[in-house]
Amino acid sequence: MKKTKKTVKKTSKVRKPAPKSKVQRPKSKVSPDVRLTGVPMVVEKTDPAMVIQWPRTIVHHHTYGLLSPFFEGLKRGVLRGVRCPNPACEEKGIWLPPRADCPDCHTRTKWVDLKNPVIGEIFTFTHVEYPGNGIEISYPYYQIDVKIPGCCTVMKGYLVRGEAKIGMKVRACFRTKQPTNTILDLSWEPAE
Ligand SMILES: [Zn+2]
Repeated sequence: MKKTKKTVKKTSKVRKPAPKSKVQRPKSKVSPDVRLTGVPMVVEKTDPAMVIQWPRTIVHHHTYGLLSPFFEGLKRGVLRGVRCPNPACEEKGIWLPPRADCPDCHTRTKWVDLKNPVIGEIFTFTHVEYPGNGIEISYPYYQIDVKIPGCCTVMKGYLVRGEAKIGMKVRACFRTKQPTNTILDLSWEPAE
């Protein structure tokens, strides 16, 4: 008998409740009634099956990265290019549009502000009558390639008025009021 009693005692000791967990469990809450937050969809047709219009949109988070000063410049009416600071580099001209690194020697480039008014010359052009989807300027318009003195590149842009001709002088214009924060803040107008 004595022996049995001892065994029972031991067993009850082992079965002691486990220490309380330190993990806090959220208390259950009663939610208010679930409401509809969407809007009704337009029914396009019902035959032979129901078709609704379900609009979808996305926000694309696009970074200008190291080229941000170029777009900051456009807003302030300044055209900014870059130059390679490597004395051993053969390219001494200004890159426009800018490049973060020299395409020839891969050295990090330095910013250069072009003096206003920036006058360039139409190198070539296209009359755009049917632009692609998503164009944010009116058309038809002239897309122009502009040669700018001191630059080693020919920059694309658009002529805001007038008729494009090869060799025609054009002046840089900036959308400083209500800028779009895109390349559309730079345009060109006839300068002759
Ligand atoms: Zn270089």
